Amino acid sequence: MEEQVCWDFDPESSVFDRDRHIFYLEMMYQMLPSAYQGQEINRLTLAYFVVSGLDILRAIDRIDKEVVINWVLSLQAHPKNDSTLENGRFYGFHGSRSSQFQSNDNGAAIPNGSHLASTYCALAILKTVGYDLSLMDSELLLKSMKNLQQTDGCMLAMYYCLCPDMKTLLALLTCETDYFQICTVLLAARVYTGTSFCSYDKGRISFMPIHIGGEADLRFVFCAAAICSMLKNWSGMDLEKAKDYIINCQSYDGGFGLSPGSESHVDYELKKYVIEGFSPVLYSILIFVTLMDGNCFSVAGGATYCAVASLKLMGFLEEDLLSRSASCHVINVPLLLDWTLQKQAQDGGFQGRANKPADTCYAFWIGGVLRILQADKFIDESALRGFLLTCQSEYGGFSKFPRLLPDLYHSYYGFCAFSLLKEPGLNSLCIELGITVVAAIGL
Ligand SMILES: [Zn+2]
Repeated sequence: MEEQVCWDFDPESSVFDRDRHIFYLEMMYQMLPSAYQGQEINRLTLAYFVVSGLDILRAIDRIDKEVVINWVLSLQAHPKNDSTLENGRFYGFHGSRSSQFQSNDNGAAIPNGSHLASTYCALAILKTVGYDLSLMDSELLLKSMKNLQQTDGCMLAMYYCLCPDMKTLLALLTCETDYFQICTVLLAARVYTGTSFCSYDKGRISFMPIHIGGEADLRFVFCAAAICSMLKNWSGMDLEKAKDYIINCQSYDGGFGLSPGSESHVDYELKKYVIEGFSPVLYSILIFVTLMDGNCFSVAGGATYCAVASLKLMGFLEEDLLSRSASCHVINVPLLLDWTLQKQAQDGGFQGRANKPADTCYAFWIGGVLRILQADKFIDESALRGFLLTCQSEYGGFSKFPRLLPDLYHSYYGFCAFSLLKEPGLNSLCIELGITVVAAIGL
C-alpha cells in the first residue's frame, strides 16, 4: 500500500510534527504558491527559509545541493569592467533572477540591484549546503560593501540612486501584465526609492518606505557582520564605527531601536503606501509623506536581535555576560535583560513590543537574544511551547498567530524556536548567524 501523504491533524496537538514540516518545506522547494509572486525580488530570502529550515529539521538531503549551489552563485553581481569599481556600487547578490535584468524593451537601464539582505541569505544557503566559501570570489564583494558604511557606522542596504531620471522610471512603469515586466518595476521601485519592501498585486504597486533615501539601520549592520563572519574576513566594514552605532541604538528601556533615538522594538507596525498607476505627482506625495513622518516609519525585523547578534559576531560580547559586573559591558546588559524578559506574554508567546499580541517569530528574535545573553533559563519554556503549538498548521509550517495559514517566514522562525527549546530530532542553532551549528562550523 502506498504511503499516505495526508495525516490526521489534531489542532490541540502537543507534538511538534516534524514529518509534516518537512513535507511543507519540500512543497515550497518544488514550487511556491502564487501568493509569493509579489515577493519575487526576495526569492533568495525565501530560499534561505526553505534550505536552512530543512537543515534544522535534519532533512537537508531532500534537496539537490549542486543545483542549489549553482543557482545561488548565478545571482552574484559582477562589474562590467574594473572602472565601475570606484562608482560606489555594491557587488553582492541579487535577490532573484529578475533583478539581474540589464534593460527593458524601452531600453531603460536597470542599476545593479544587489542587496545586503540577499547577500546574507546567499551566503547562509551556501554554508548550509556545505559549499566552501573560500572558493568564491569575495574580494570585490567585501571591498564594495565598505562603500555602504555611513559616517555614523550604519550600513546602507544597497547602492541606490533616488530617481535620477524620471523619464527612465516612467519608461519602466509602462507595463501592465507581463510577469517579468512586473519584476522589473519592483526592482526599479526598490532601487529608485531605496525601500526594501515593495510588491505588486492586481495592478497596484505597494511601497513601505522606511527612510527617505536608502534604507540604513541595524538590520543591515547585522547582515554586514554576518557576511564578514561567514567569509572569515572583516575588511568589509569598520568594526569600531559599527559598534558605536549599535551602542547608540540602545534605548532608555534597555531594548534597541533600529536607529539611534527610535523606539526599542522587535517589530514596528507596518505602514503601507499603495500607489495606483504610479505617477510623478504621487511619487512626490510619497516623498513628502516620508519626510513628514520621519522615524515613525515601520520595519519588520528584530532590532534588538540584530544589535546583540552583531556585537556577538564582532567579538564585543564576553562569554559569561551575566556573571560580570555591568560596567564591563559595551551595552547595558541588566537593562536589556529586564526589557527582554518582560516580552513573554500571558499566553506564553513572545511579543515584539509591550501590549502587542504574541507572535511566532518573536520566540526566535527574543528567545535568541536571551540565549546569547545565556539567560534562556528564565524563559517559561512549557508556556512558550504551548503557544507555538497553537500556531502549528495542519499543512505543516507555522502561522504568525494561532489558527491562521502558515507562511515561510513564520514557519522558519517557528522551527528556530523549537530548536532553541531543544526539541528532539532538530539540529541546534548558531543563533548569531541564523543557521544551524553544523552549517556554521562547516562540518
Ligand atoms: Zn511575526
